[in-house]
Amino acid sequence: MNDFSALLVAWQKQAGRHDLPWQGSNDAYSIWVSEIMLQQTQVATVMPYYERFMSSFPDVHRLASSHLDAVLAAWSGLGYYSRARNMHRTARIIVEHHDGKFPDHPERLAEFPGIGRSTAAAIAVFAFSHRAAILDGNVKRVFSRVFGIEGYPGEKSVEAIMWKKAEELLPAAEIGRYTQALMDLGAGLCSRKNPNCGHCPLKSDCIAHIRGRVHELPQARPKKALPSKETTFLVSMREGLIRFERRPGSGVWAELLCFPEILPADVSNLHSVKTLPAFTHAFTHFRLKINVVLAQAEGFGDGVWMTPEEGLASSIPNPVRKILEEVRILSPWP
Ligand code: SF4
Repeated sequence: MNDFSALLVAWQKQAGRHDLPWQGSNDAYSIWVSEIMLQQTQVATVMPYYERFMSSFPDVHRLASSHLDAVLAAWSGLGYYSRARNMHRTARIIVEHHDGKFPDHPERLAEFPGIGRSTAAAIAVFAFSHRAAILDGNVKRVFSRVFGIEGYPGEKSVEAIMWKKAEELLPAAEIGRYTQALMDLGAGLCSRKNPNCGHCPLKSDCIAHIRGRVHELPQARPKKALPSKETTFLVSMREGLIRFERRPGSGVWAELLCFPEILPADVSNLHSVKTLPAFTHAFTHFRLKINVVLAQAEGFGDGVWMTPEEGLASSIPNPVRKILEEVRILSPWP
């Protein structure tokens, strides 16, 4: 074992995480669920979602036979809903074409919707003890600091250097513990803002630490102002119910239930209008200013009519959740 992996493995035994709900099993399904949830989301946030998801969809057959809306509802609040849609598609492919079993090779795993190279490697390591390299955002940060790799890690050329490094560093044994160690270090000690270098097993070799460059590495994404967009949500209410519309199958918040969007000019045609404070929701590629208009509906037209509580239990995006929370405490309704 090389020094890097030996230090990490020894540290993981002593100080790493050992009791996460998806650890201690080599069940590919539960490992896959946890790895997808952990993409762009921290462990503490993932835990309750993971427990609920696994009790609703305990195996790949149950997930594949469930309606997408039930999967999106279980995901509601976790964000990045394409992950849930891709999981549903993947579950169906696994059941229909792979006899309900996940392939054990990372390259085969990476062919499924929503499973990138790093996630495929993590599943192959934890479920099948396959020797494969991971490289998620946290690991990129560790590599950038330890080896002093310059450049923004989202850049293809920088990423290629890191993948090469990740492959070279793979130990011949204890691949599961080594992979877990990298994840634990990246999510814990080597955090983005305040890394705890004093307790780090790599501190004597870490270039960023030795040269006092911890806060300079990894380099930030080159600045580019995000474009802004604006919309107005109509919260149409009648007899304790609110009208929702199902979003189209592609684009922002695909398939989720949302309030209808209206043009500012349409507001003057509404009855008993109230407004809530506008707010901004940040997407990866743009910022959306959301105006909120509450109005009394003249009748029960098309769409899905639900109480605020039913809405909160449905597959809704976070801004709709935020508005519903506010509407729920409004009294009287318009
Ligand atoms: S020494 Fe500090 S910066 Fe370097 S890997 Fe450890 S925690 Fe991260």
